[in-house]
Amino acid sequence: MAKLIITAADGGSSERELSGKAFTVGRSADCDLPLKGDAKVSRSHCKIEPRGDEYFLSDLGSANGTRLNGEKIGQQVLRLEDGDRIGVGGTKIEFWLAEPAPDGGAGAGAATAAAGGGLAGRLGKVKGLISRGGPRAGAAGATFGAKTITCSCGAVINTADRAPGHKVGCPRCKKIYKVPRK
Ligand SMILES: [Zn+2]
Repeated sequence: MAKLIITAADGGSSERELSGKAFTVGRSADCDLPLKGDAKVSRSHCKIEPRGDEYFLSDLGSANGTRLNGEKIGQQVLRLEDGDRIGVGGTKIEFWLAEPAPDGGAGAGAATAAAGGGLAGRLGKVKGLISRGGPRAGAAGATFGAKTITCSCGAVINTADRAPGHKVGCPRCKKIYKVPRK
């Protein structure tokens, strides 16, 4: 059973358990987690959605964006891991798959973050959850050559006949890259 530990902008904290349904966060009273007092939160801000045994975070077009462990997620749909910190306006939300260990919890989370190398590895692999994050999301781990881009998945994309600034997609993993200026 996954749960959220919510720390409001004013320091008050509360806990919510996630059920098998999508969980919405926003300023609207209709949200599963209404954050009325936080002016930086949009009416419908973000959503946590279960798929099988996993949970995925996505932004609902909020004005100020949703952060995962300090990084803005843009339009990516990202798998949540134990101990993840979600930032919504001035509110912090911790995601826990199981009961947080008295001490080991934070350490395990830090190890995961170090091994994961940022958000790129979290992209949803479920059909329909392909990243639309654009060049910024794809840039991690890729090598930009004069006429090719080597994707972080290892595929080489030929950009010889593409104008700089155009977007090309990796044929293998569908990441989107911007053709660099030559
Ligand atoms: Zn690729």
